[in-house]
Amino acid sequence: MEIVVQKYGGSSVATTDKIKKVAEKVIKKKEEGYHVVVILSAMGDTTDTLISLAKDITDNPSPREMDMLLTTGEQVSIALLSMALNAKGYSAVSFTGSQLNIKTTSIHQKARIKDIDVLKLRKALKEDKIVVVAGFQGVTEDNEYTTLGRGGSDTSAVALAAKLNAKCEIYTDVDGIYTMDPRKLPRARKIDRICYEEMMEIASLGAGVIHYRAVELGHKYQIPIYIGSTFSDNIGTIITNRGGDSMEETVITGMASSTDDIQVTLLNLTSSTESLYKLFGELAAGEANVDMISQMLTEDNKMHVSFTIPKTDVQLAKEILNKWKEEDESIQWEVNTDIAKISVVGLGMRSHSGVAAKVFQLMAENDIEIKMITTSEIKITWVVDIKDELKAIQLIGKEFGLEEPAE
Ligand code: ADP
Ligand code: ASP
Ligand code: MG
Repeated sequence: MEIVVQKYGGSSVATTDKIKKVAEKVIKKKEEGYHVVVILSAMGDTTDTLISLAKDITDNPSPREMDMLLTTGEQVSIALLSMALNAKGYSAVSFTGSQLNIKTTSIHQKARIKDIDVLKLRKALKEDKIVVVAGFQGVTEDNEYTTLGRGGSDTSAVALAAKLNAKCEIYTDVDGIYTMDPRKLPRARKIDRICYEEMMEIASLGAGVIHYRAVELGHKYQIPIYIGSTFSDNIGTIITNRGGDSMEETVITGMASSTDDIQVTLLNLTSSTESLYKLFGELAAGEANVDMISQMLTEDNKMHVSFTIPKTDVQLAKEILNKWKEEDESIQWEVNTDIAKISVVGLGMRSHSGVAAKVFQLMAENDIEIKMITTSEIKITWVVDIKDELKAIQLIGKEFGLEEPAE
């Protein structure tokens, strides 16, 4: 019997009524003749609530204890769904990451899945049970609880699908992948099919709709990922290999915008490339995820260096920079938290030039300052002041045909 892994996100299991609806959807699949493995996120905003509980206690909680706390969220939702399935007459069993031996690396809150021992799971399927698994979590070799980073249940789902050679379906509160987050561009178009490469870029650039590493795993193990709505039967989006009907692809497939980063600027550095190498080396060693970097020489032969970093890594960056300042008092640094990082992505950029020029023109004509910009073969990313974010998105959406045509 074919196995399908279905993942339901936090908003899909936010209340007990919604959990009952999810149970119906799972049962429908089971009745179609599949073995069903369900991966769940925590209910609604549970993970955020747990994080703020920790913050009420301390600004600097131990990463290990954070994972002890955060893994509880998913344990609640899996038990409730399992009960809902039982109540409807179906045999179901829930498992945490530790019970299923989802082995991860040991960096708390950023752990990566190393392997999953699916014996227990297969046994339960053989007994015709529906298996409900806690997403977002695993254990280290020493049996310490870990989490995979925010939004990580998607990655749990694709990893399990890869291990079980199963179909993978991710259900959420939108009915597919759009050219841009519909909350930021209300007339964004739904995409029927998107390739792994483009989706990885869009996901890593701030489209929270799917965890970047889930798409990466899908690509690696060649698992097509279907994204659809939990509460409607509209056809969603399939993330798969490149291909499709259109003879000429569009230049820009999608756009993403993130306000989750800050810009750090180091002023008047006398230092050389060697010290930059040391600085970025230290940030990397601490797993701080430095993204855009720009460097500007001043008239007196010094330099300013700016980089962006996720807000969640700020504490770490501050510690490293403060240490540097102790060694060299001339080092000054400032942080700008009010930025938005906007990106456009498209394989079509490989064969079309002029996209960056168009971005510059649109921003200039509309008095939007570009603070930093980087380009790669299939994407352009630039930083603007947060107040200009939505205006910039609208301009780009219109220019590159990312919206539904007007009626
Ligand atoms: P879940 O809790 O199901 O994991 P998420 O909140 O993580 O759901 O992801 C769904 C949300 O992603 C949507 O509500 C939507 O606002 C947002 N989103 C961001 N970018 C996109 C996009 N390109 N297409 C669709 N949704 C997007
Ligand atoms: N509950 C976790 C989070 O909110 C994991 C997930 O939803 O994918 O980040
Ligand atoms: Mg999510």
